[in-house]
Amino acid sequence: MENIIITDNHIHVDPINGEGPLEVAKKFRRAGGNVMIIPNKPTWTVGKSCSFKDAMELVIKYVNEINENTDVRAFAVVGAHPAELSRLIKEGIKLKKAEQMMKDAFKTAQMLITEGKAIGIGEIGRPHYEVSPEELQIHNNLILYAMELAADADCAIQLHTESAAEEQFLEFAEIADKAGLARYKVIKHFSGPLVNKEENHSLTPSLIATRDVVTKGLKKGNGFLMETDYLDMKSRPGAVLGPKTVPRRTNELLRNETMTEDDAYKIHVETVKKVYGIDID
Ligand SMILES: [Zn+2]
Repeated sequence: MENIIITDNHIHVDPINGEGPLEVAKKFRRAGGNVMIIPNKPTWTVGKSCSFKDAMELVIKYVNEINENTDVRAFAVVGAHPAELSRLIKEGIKLKKAEQMMKDAFKTAQMLITEGKAIGIGEIGRPHYEVSPEELQIHNNLILYAMELAADADCAIQLHTESAAEEQFLEFAEIADKAGLARYKVIKHFSGPLVNKEENHSLTPSLIATRDVVTKGLKKGNGFLMETDYLDMKSRPGAVLGPKTVPRRTNELLRNETMTEDDAYKIHVETVKKVYGIDID
């Protein structure tokens, strides 16, 4: 059991507001974790003058620090969070202009991926709070555009959305089809246990690593990823699961035989390799 590779599919590191890449990676490693997939944080968490490109380059820098200084293997996912669009609109920027700025950010993300500095576009998507119909339309345009870029670069995409049920999974699956992006390359971040194909329409759900969600997921199958969505913010320590949760939960479920070693391999290695096209064995 000690040779099992364990992956957190969505974990943040933030040396400005939290402990930063090395401390988080060391905690993750000590708990038995091996691979961290790290999306960049929103620009405002970095500072007022931070550009989309700066935020993406920062996470790439943190990933390099982890890879150079720890035994954890880290990979960057780059994009512009849907709340960035709301922020631009609140700042008084016209809708069309704001949409173009988001598209330019996604283009930058795609460039960093084709340069081999990141492995996927994300987190992008729709906000978890209510917005005007006009703003919602732009979010939907942006999801299609990001999926087209992902199809073009042949990379994965991580979606942040309102809490999604079968209906939303179908909607995103149909957008992926329209964009020419393989459905399994669309990862629904912060997912509930929608593990059956009839529920997730062949998208890849990234299950939040609570005992309840993962146990429910395993009753249906093992075609999913696991994540904490750890924010690394000292001001919100209990907002999400801690950085040790994915390895701890995995080992707990292996011990009590809720998860088999085959399940663990599928979740932490096989699906990660398939979705991102990376080698982590
Ligand atoms: Zn996140």
